[in-house]
Amino acid sequence: MKTKIAVAKGDGIGPEIMAAVLRIFEAANVQLDYEYVEMGKSYFDAGHSTGMTAQAKETIERLGLLFKGPMETPKGKGVKSINVTARKVWNTYANQRDFRSLNGVDTVFSKAGIPINLTIVRENIEDTYGGIEHLLTNDVAVGRRIITRPGSAQVIRYAFEMARRKGYTKLACGHKANIMKLTDGLFLETFYEIAREYPDIESSDIIVDDLCMKLVSRPEIFQAIVLTNLQGDIVSDLCAGLVGGLGFAPSANIGDNISIFEAVHGTAPDIAGRGIANPTALLLSGILMLRYLGFTTAAADIENSLLYTLEQGVHTGDFGDKATEAANTETFADAVIANLGHIPAKGAVIGQPDMEVKANHDHPLKNKLTVTKAATTEEMVGVDVFVESSKQPNELAELAKRNETDNFQLVMISNRGTQVWPTGSIFTELVNEYRIRFEKKDGTEITQKEILLIAADLSDDFKVCSVEFLMKFDGKIGYTLAQGQ
Ligand code: NAD
Repeated sequence: MKTKIAVAKGDGIGPEIMAAVLRIFEAANVQLDYEYVEMGKSYFDAGHSTGMTAQAKETIERLGLLFKGPMETPKGKGVKSINVTARKVWNTYANQRDFRSLNGVDTVFSKAGIPINLTIVRENIEDTYGGIEHLLTNDVAVGRRIITRPGSAQVIRYAFEMARRKGYTKLACGHKANIMKLTDGLFLETFYEIAREYPDIESSDIIVDDLCMKLVSRPEIFQAIVLTNLQGDIVSDLCAGLVGGLGFAPSANIGDNISIFEAVHGTAPDIAGRGIANPTALLLSGILMLRYLGFTTAAADIENSLLYTLEQGVHTGDFGDKATEAANTETFADAVIANLGHIPAKGAVIGQPDMEVKANHDHPLKNKLTVTKAATTEEMVGVDVFVESSKQPNELAELAKRNETDNFQLVMISNRGTQVWPTGSIFTELVNEYRIRFEKKDGTEITQKEILLIAADLSDDFKVCSVEFLMKFDGKIGYTLAQGQ
């Protein structure tokens, strides 16, 4: 019996490359059935605010697997990217992107004889991609960066499992915990906690800027790297550049129930409709999908044929030898089909599963909620009130001090995260949004209500922009100190 999956052809070059890939699947006798779903730009234009029809949502949730072409999000209409929405709504928490040198795709590294074979696992839901942003004053925009323990654990565990399945010996965690001590700190802490369950995999961590430098200077030292969402996004495009560009970058968005396979590149509007797009990235994504579904033999056959085809010098216009005629999307697919059964000289693939077989998925009856561990003690110790003001720090402190109570004292004022009161530098330049920090006095007990009253009282003198509670969990402070505090 054939396995049924949902297919969205996508926008721009999407339908062209999807047709080419499905033709290759058919020629390789892949046992898949397709249910085409309606999503993409034209569905935004037709008034579907999520960019897909209710029927498409139902089909994808029922089948649990979506193979999609790139999709365009209309600009300036206030709608959210359908690609990001799909990943988040269906909790495809791990974005796996495999990068490897392909014989026939020249890069500076292939010319230098340095082979690249590495996988980036990017957290796919959290971080600044929560899209929670506010303009607090006309000059000051802030965004929330959400990193959670369950979300980090999910993607990190996936990365270790994947490393094991692929036979990797090491996994690195890329981060910026030296600066973002609580958010990246939590991700890194979770990484090392989970690493203890995988003693067979050598775990290490690397600061993301150093990682970028090493990826371009010595990419061969890495096997797999797990990162938070935004850093992973940037690093994975950097890796695409190492192996020849976005035309060779496949992507799997893996969730426990629903998974999405797509190319990393977009709709390429500049070449759409001309039949000249390179279908390789979508084909590589399709190969990842076949392995995920358990069709390992077909995946290996198609991959070997693709590698052989590239080795023969067959290329579309975006890469390869400019002196030889470029294939178009169709003729490139024809070549891959004709080469089925051929084994490439370099990098031949032996059919073995590199992902868990997940043809079936659960249909949950309620939203899953995960709490990994509760703190034994939680203590509220103060508040940061963010206010709009164009006053000098001392003037602001005078006004704020009027809100001190028997329980609360003013301890610090900062501007753009740099302390400006009680001490600071006259050279610190200011914007019109300050953070005013009150902390409880030693030996006092405070309530949430008292804290909110401080903010309410401050609103007599200022526009209060936002309020954050200061917490301690098991005695550890759950907030950052200001620069200079
Ligand atoms: P893009 O990836 O579409 O194009 C960048 C450049 O790469 C263009 O010159 C294009 O011609 C070329 N290119 C991309 N894929 C190619 C292929 N398969 N063969 C040959 N050349 C290829 O990026 P963009 O122009 O920034 O984005 C265009 C649209 O795609 C936007 O609406 C964007 O939102 C959307 N997008 C969608 C996805 C997705 O669906 N996952 C991802 C990225 C961008």
